[in-house]
Amino acid sequence: MRGKNRILVVDDEEAMGLGLAEILTNAGHEVQITTSGKEAIEKVKKYAYDAVLTDLKMPDVDGIQVLEQVKKSSPETAVIMLTAYGTVASAVEAIKKGAYDYISKPFKIDQVRNIVNKALQQRISTDECSSFRTISRMMHPEYDGRSKVIEVRGVKIGGSKLVIIAGPCAVEGREFTLEIARAVKESGADMLRGGAYKPRTSPYDFQGLGEEGLEILAEAREITGLPVVTEVMDPRLVDLVGQYADVYQIGSRSMQNFPLLTEVGKTKKPVLLKRGMSATLREWLCAAEYIAKEGNTDIILCERGVRTAESGEYDRNTLDLNVIGAVKKNTYLPIIVDPSHGTGRADMVPLASKAAVEYGAQGLIIEVIGENMDVQSIKSDGYQSIRPSILRNIIEEVSAKVLNF
Ligand code: PEP
Ligand code: MN
Repeated sequence: MRGKNRILVVDDEEAMGLGLAEILTNAGHEVQITTSGKEAIEKVKKYAYDAVLTDLKMPDVDGIQVLEQVKKSSPETAVIMLTAYGTVASAVEAIKKGAYDYISKPFKIDQVRNIVNKALQQRISTDECSSFRTISRMMHPEYDGRSKVIEVRGVKIGGSKLVIIAGPCAVEGREFTLEIARAVKESGADMLRGGAYKPRTSPYDFQGLGEEGLEILAEAREITGLPVVTEVMDPRLVDLVGQYADVYQIGSRSMQNFPLLTEVGKTKKPVLLKRGMSATLREWLCAAEYIAKEGNTDIILCERGVRTAESGEYDRNTLDLNVIGAVKKNTYLPIIVDPSHGTGRADMVPLASKAAVEYGAQGLIIEVIGENMDVQSIKSDGYQSIRPSILRNIIEEVSAKVLNF
């Protein structure tokens, strides 16, 4: 999750400690060993290890005492008890006191590696208490079994109904945008998307219409009644974009633009926070925390595909649907999926949309162009945009689904 993990191994039998240290070092961890329980207690007081493996029975200090000190000094640390054959009852006692698991001696290499890896992975849930406390599910039991419902002009995201956000990648013109806005409304969309400020890979590509684009979006909202989601990239433009947008979109490329996150966090407008194209779950949730920390917890998370070895071969990105469950486990914020950027291919969007909903997505954000528009003439993301008729089919198939979190 965060570079090398630091692990402390405590065992009065030196050979045992060395053996474990070797296994864990080979697994890529940074390991310290001590044969003294007393010394272990001093060490864990001073340093928050990622994991501590401690023998249960030691001559000077009991393993339970080491565990208790760890839980006092750094509750995030995973503690794994090392037990001799026949001391399972004490191991169970230790688990009741907060140990993650136990390993019985003699142990197998794989067993040690697996238990330690699992313990380190689940640390993200304890990390909630510190690194992303404002949006953490664990810290907010009032959201037990549900998400926060974020309301945008009467549209509720995170409730029992799936929300569909649709529209062009970029606002490419007035007629262009109004035609698509009317069509997505007709197809049953709940909100309109479209970028007036576009994060383009090349500085020579179409950059968006800027404020003129925002005015067009406002007109489209006026005509269709659809709330508007639009991207803000520059912290200096948060006020301006906010005069037109109903939801700020923070794009994948801006996910860790901390001054931007802070700025939208100071507003009262909902924020759609896309996952960085190579962001870990923790990085993404910490980015949301930057917004929430300023007082704005109306944040909608959006999975939009991540970069993998395959990206570009048969799709643009790899849509990480596995992350949906992990997001729900760690935060009460709702999560939606962008099948357009997640696949980069219009023909893959319908199936990806349905799969996302099956996986528990609470909404979809889909790029759409006019029914008869020429893909070649579209300046931004035309090849991954679907037609309104296809959007209608998708909505018909997925919208009956009642979301029960
Ligand atoms: C977009 O929504 O058009 C966009 C640029 O998305 P992302 O930031 O996910 O690439
Ligand atoms: Mn796009």
